[in-house]
Amino acid sequence: MTLREVLIALAYMIASACFVLGLMWLQSPKRARRGNALSAVGMLVAIVATLFVSGIKDYTIIIIGAIVGSAVGATMARTVPMTAMPQMVGILNGFGGGASALVAAAEFFKYASDPTTLTLDVAISIMLAMIVGAITFSGSMIAAGKLQGIVNERPITYPFQNVMNLIFFATIAAAAVFLVMNFGHPWVFLYLTVAALIFGVLFTIPIGGADMPVVICFLNALSGVAAAMAGFVIKNNALIIAGSLVGASGVILTQIMCWAMNRPITNVLFGAFGSVEAASSAAATAIKKTVKPIQPDEAAILLAYAQLVIIVPGYGMAVSQAQHAVRQLADELGKRGVTVKYAIHPVAGRMPGHMNVLLAEANVPYDQLYDMDQINDEFPQADVALIVGANDVVNPAARYDRSSPIYGMPILNADHAKQIIVLKRSMNPGFAGIENELFYNDKTRMLFGDAKESLTKLIAEVKNL
Ligand code: NAP
Repeated sequence: MTLREVLIALAYMIASACFVLGLMWLQSPKRARRGNALSAVGMLVAIVATLFVSGIKDYTIIIIGAIVGSAVGATMARTVPMTAMPQMVGILNGFGGGASALVAAAEFFKYASDPTTLTLDVAISIMLAMIVGAITFSGSMIAAGKLQGIVNERPITYPFQNVMNLIFFATIAAAAVFLVMNFGHPWVFLYLTVAALIFGVLFTIPIGGADMPVVICFLNALSGVAAAMAGFVIKNNALIIAGSLVGASGVILTQIMCWAMNRPITNVLFGAFGSVEAASSAAATAIKKTVKPIQPDEAAILLAYAQLVIIVPGYGMAVSQAQHAVRQLADELGKRGVTVKYAIHPVAGRMPGHMNVLLAEANVPYDQLYDMDQINDEFPQADVALIVGANDVVNPAARYDRSSPIYGMPILNADHAKQIIVLKRSMNPGFAGIENELFYNDKTRMLFGDAKESLTKLIAEVKNL
């Protein structure tokens, strides 16, 4: 081993340690930013070390790629709204998968022209990197398109779809086995590539827009697998470790989201959730009832004279960017001696940790944030449950209505509070597309309007009291 190779291996080890430590720090909101920064430093170390790998003849294209990539990445990160973050993550996963597929293609043609140094493990890794990378690329683009509303959000289904997809995938696997045993044959490799790209589309279109965040996590895991495979192809340890970490964390995140919705992953991936307009029996009865609106001045009195207020943030808070106003209201209530707690549902919003990130951005103290299990028993003592743009995560139908698409999903017990104030713009449903009987509960009052505007009015009214 030359000194250069030793130093590169050392740099890769440091980079890998940064990734692992960074991931560990991401577990706590207090250290999450540092964790992110440390992982980024690790990536920088890995990139710089790779630039010293022998055999690079021309740096021009690398420099152009780095400048263009950094400019596009920085612009996207600065301009994409928080609500569009899941689709941005989807696009980035897709690029990761695409990059691994390109590495696989380059190595395929290198070995096809000179197969003397080709070993069985490299041949298998090339096929896997190409298949998984291409599926991740096209699947992620469709997933991001569905979330952005560019591609039809509804599940596109037809008879025997899963069986046909399985048969189609079997032809891809057969092509891969053929290529491993008879390396070369660019036309077969071209079939494998195009078919894997098409499979990514076929795999994603039957899944409804509602399940796209889970699919994006799943594709994130696949992008990690593709990267690890590409690492085996080019024998790059940093890539193998980083890819494995992405793959493992993507699988864990996918599983956590499925558990939080109480749905098996097979149901998410093959269940065509949202293909029919869901209308539960409880919802149908609830529709006939009426809701009780409330004005900001009245709501302010309920809040200001409460002892315990539990705030339940949801996707609407993210849409309205109301997190700062939420914090200001909590501060005003705190000044009046009201105890304020935040109840965080694991799938509130559109991505895991969505509410935590927004509330942290508004400097809400971490010790006021409570997970569902920690706070659910406290709702009966709460004078007011203030629901800020949440819907499905407080829908009582999840507890008992077997016909409801969210049946079995653990929910926040907001309906157990003494009073409930709901901030939303209309009676439109949330993500699952179903009615919420909580809004018709005798204890519930609806404060209609954009969450941020309603909160601003509430703050002014509380100050006036
Ligand atoms: P939700 O059920 O989607 O409801 C959000 C509510 O916010 C809507 O009813 C909407 O009503 C209201 N809203 C939208 N814009 C608003 C604004 N500007 N001001 C005030 N209100 C506004 O949200 P959720 O309760 O947070 O539930 C999350 C859902 O996403 C769950 O079904 C969960 O399974 C799903 N999901 C989450 C994840 C994740 O990782 N977090 C992943 C996959 C799926 P109006 O239109 O009437 O205002």
